[in-house]
Amino acid sequence: MTDPAKPLRVVCLGGGWTAIYLARSLRKAIKRGDVELTIVSRDNFHTFHGFIAEMLTGKVSPTNITSPVRRLFPPARFHNAEIKSVDVEQRTVTTSRLLDGKEQVLEYDHLVVALGSIDDLSRYPGIAQHAFQLKTFADNFRVRNHLLSMLELAEIETDPVERQRLLTFIVVGGGFGGVEVATELMDYFRRLARKEYSGIDPADLRVLLVHSGERILPELATRQPKLIGYAERTIAKGGVEVLTGTRITAATRDEAILSDGTVVPTRSIISSSGTALSPLLDLMPYERDARGRVITDENVRVPGTDNVWAAGDCAAVPHPQGGTCPAVAIYGMYGGRQIGRNIVRQLEGKPLKPFTFAGLGDACSLGRRKAVSHLKGLRFYGLPAWILWRLFFWWFVPTRERKADILFDWLMAPFFGRDIVGVRVATPFGLRREHYETGQAVVRQGEVGQQIYVIASGSAEIVRETPDGEVVVTGLGAGDHFGEKAVFEETRRTATVRATSPLEVLSLGQAEARALAETIQTFGAAVRELPNEPEHNPAPLPGDAAPVTPAG
Ligand SMILES: Cc1cc2nc3c(=O)[nH]c(=O)nc-3n(C[C@H](O)[C@H](O)[C@H](O)COP(=O)(O)OP(=O)(O)OC[C@H]3O[C@@H](n4cnc5c(N)ncnc54)[C@H](O)[C@@H]3O)c2cc1C
Repeated sequence: MTDPAKPLRVVCLGGGWTAIYLARSLRKAIKRGDVELTIVSRDNFHTFHGFIAEMLTGKVSPTNITSPVRRLFPPARFHNAEIKSVDVEQRTVTTSRLLDGKEQVLEYDHLVVALGSIDDLSRYPGIAQHAFQLKTFADNFRVRNHLLSMLELAEIETDPVERQRLLTFIVVGGGFGGVEVATELMDYFRRLARKEYSGIDPADLRVLLVHSGERILPELATRQPKLIGYAERTIAKGGVEVLTGTRITAATRDEAILSDGTVVPTRSIISSSGTALSPLLDLMPYERDARGRVITDENVRVPGTDNVWAAGDCAAVPHPQGGTCPAVAIYGMYGGRQIGRNIVRQLEGKPLKPFTFAGLGDACSLGRRKAVSHLKGLRFYGLPAWILWRLFFWWFVPTRERKADILFDWLMAPFFGRDIVGVRVATPFGLRREHYETGQAVVRQGEVGQQIYVIASGSAEIVRETPDGEVVVTGLGAGDHFGEKAVFEETRRTATVRATSPLEVLSLGQAEARALAETIQTFGAAVRELPNEPEHNPAPLPGDAAPVTPAG
């Protein structure tokens, strides 16, 4: 029960756009002592997605697309932890701290659900293991460094096939995000090839934009189809290969497989399509729409409650012109602001006010200082649209210092070039899941071995390459492992292991495999000795000095 003598306790799940505008609209009420707002998020910073393409391509320094929440939310409180569960009966939220999982319970009078969205990692085999995502700052930082490392590797690669693989980049999803990334990448790579990577021929660079719909930029299809035509022509001139009506059906370490059967050798698949919703929503008893979003009424409140609100990507908020609001930042902002205003109105005993924001317009950058945009019904193309796009997004950067930092980056880049430091973040190899399609090699005979593998599902065969051709040594299935000899004895792979069906393997890095084998004797014995079991140890082939072990 709410105690009128105490401030109203509002807990906001998530620290994104919705939370920022909620905090702004509740600022006065917090200062008056009427409301106590606690924002819970796993990140102590906000990521500005509007400039992701600029960050990936060195126009903006990586951390300049983030803003510290400690300067965004006050006087609201900030609780930096993972949200674990919500008990709507008890009106509590349980969080666990990131250090060691220690739990805390927060009590609330009002709950704001603003959890945003997550990447859908179930869309095709291999997406989780081999495709890059653009959602979190860490995702984006990884992509940025990966792109530079591809150029470094390509410049010194002597095998033309591998070189082309390194210089082929696939962007999946032809919405605003995918188009901006693909077009900026093409421009960036060509610029770097001309200026800094003299060993790379710009003609070898390929950026493919794969889009399942018949036309790119579906966000503009009903409202501004003319802008799509301009965008299509501009993108084609810029050299990005657009594959519409095409899906990616599998991603592996070495290639992307497309729905028309084309296999594109690449080490860079960047995914900019397909979102899912936080599993936390499943813990709440509120009605959801067909996309899984929490349904709200026109006042942005969850029907059947008087103290639960939802906005942003995770909510189906009625749009004033019909339908529901799209999952873009500006609707999260205005939704958060309306929730704050209505909480205060409810506290003051006034009737709630409906959400009336109907949108300002859209803008999409197309690289090479061109864009398409529309604002309040007016259409813009080319350079004017690009200036509008940049100014519009810059205006919404949520802190003044980041606005200044970004402006500084933009002003300096023409004089000193872009930021092209590829930071190698030392991560241990660890345990990874990898996906392979039928016929693909997991390890190749003669390679230096750096991982051992366990088959999680699917089948494979061990093949010896001999002067007389290939000899299939044996088949492998779920639970079998291979690759130990090269890892433990530091020899080259003695055979190739190739998938004979779609294959999921767990791979364990050399250092980790050795540490485990030394520490857990049964593990060590299993991975070292199983290859000598009869079914994995067929008779030596002619000319073999030592018995064959699976893909050593
Ligand atoms: C690559 C990309 C490009 C985009 N480009 C644009 C663009 O150009 N223009 C545009 O308008 N929109 C763009 N968007 C969409 C825009 O970013 C979202 O619509 C907006 O961020 C939604 O705001 P939100 O408040 O709903 O959620 P978010 O801003 O996503 O915030 C969700 C918050 O919840 C937190 N959270 C979630 N689960 C937990 C948990 N279990 N524990 C703790 N914290 C949790 C997250 O850390 C985060 O702080 C883009 C999105 C992406 C991914």
